[in-house]
Amino acid sequence: MLAEIIAIGDELTSGQRLDTNSQWLSQELGLLGIRVGYHTTVCDTLEAGVHAFRIAARRAQVIVATGGLGPTADDLTRDVLSELSGQHLVLSQQALEGIASRFSTRHAVMPESNRRQAMFPKGSSLIENPDGTAPGIKMVLPAGDGWGEGVGSVVYALPGVPAEMRRMWDETVSGDLKQVAGENRVLRHRRLKCFGAGESAIEEMLPGIIERGRDPTVGITAHEATITLRISAWADNDDSCWKKIMTTESIIRQTLGRLVYGEEDDEVEDAAAAALLAASASLATVEAGTAGRVASLFAQAADRRNDSNQPFFCGGLVLPMLPGEKPELIAAAKEVARSHNASVGMAVGPVRSTGERQTVDVVVVNDDVPIVTEHVLGGGGIAMSRAAKSAIDQIRRILL
Ligand code: AMP
Ligand code: MG
Repeated sequence: MLAEIIAIGDELTSGQRLDTNSQWLSQELGLLGIRVGYHTTVCDTLEAGVHAFRIAARRAQVIVATGGLGPTADDLTRDVLSELSGQHLVLSQQALEGIASRFSTRHAVMPESNRRQAMFPKGSSLIENPDGTAPGIKMVLPAGDGWGEGVGSVVYALPGVPAEMRRMWDETVSGDLKQVAGENRVLRHRRLKCFGAGESAIEEMLPGIIERGRDPTVGITAHEATITLRISAWADNDDSCWKKIMTTESIIRQTLGRLVYGEEDDEVEDAAAAALLAASASLATVEAGTAGRVASLFAQAADRRNDSNQPFFCGGLVLPMLPGEKPELIAAAKEVARSHNASVGMAVGPVRSTGERQTVDVVVVNDDVPIVTEHVLGGGGIAMSRAAKSAIDQIRRILL
């Protein structure tokens, strides 16, 4: 069974608003074991809407749409469904009473335009919306209905407002789909986070793992030098999914070793913080090339851990410049540790450019022993961010 999500609205196609509904719905459909094959985003015209739904009905058995259910003239989802199915819009007395009572409890007069929200294509049914005026629409589009070799699709049209859409999903649609999904295969994901090698280098280290058609599948993405490996498994139940995922995870961990620093939403600074705490160590930093990013990331990691009685980060200095020579960086790292009463001091030098090549020197002084490393920073305008993460990752590597 394949699903398609249709996000409707000019604010989406014009780039003014990010379509977060499709992301959320895809995750929810995955939890139900329904594979999402397509995301479609479409503007607020009747023609484009009909076109999008017609294509979706040919290739997906489940269509979840969001947006276009408001009372105004540009909210056309109900008209699209009517046009598509050839079913007239008829007034639902139940919906009209629901909408009217929302207004009367607020002692307001219902504008005439809200009547539109009580109009439903004949044969469709209403999805309750406890938080807003726009009820959703459930409609079955039969197979082979004259306008394409349709496979027979069930459509759930929900409002665009994320909170309303989510509640309606939780209270009505997901339960309904559980029955449609029948055999109920489940999909589970796990993310492993890596730092210290590029995307293609990591891919090369894992031949046969990041490969189309493998079960479970492993995908790779890069964001500001952090590499995410995403393991996805389908199975009949939760346990079988996690078994498959764990087998693949342990192959990846054995192969990549210390390149894997964490999982799910972990950032390098979270891993470095954990390493400092495990070693009962504390850190102070001084940085010149990274504009305060190192201190900022450590402060954020401390904030996320939220355990104020175990402070691992004693503070950081941000300087407009530091002498680039190694003995001076070592002295700076020692001095910042001493003045902040920390067991580990770190100095991040200026970012140096030699032609195309950008590098940064990092000094970590741990119990008075200095370790100096040079890090090559890629292009693409992320040199500072990569320099900060490289410095932070040094802490994890040294303390492990
Ligand atoms: P609508 O149901 O089309 O009237 O949408 C109501 C509001 O929900 C819009 O003004 C947007 O702010 C928001 N919205 C609509 N579609 C989406 C979407 N796909 N993702 C996130 N927000 C959305
Ligand atoms: Mg809209």
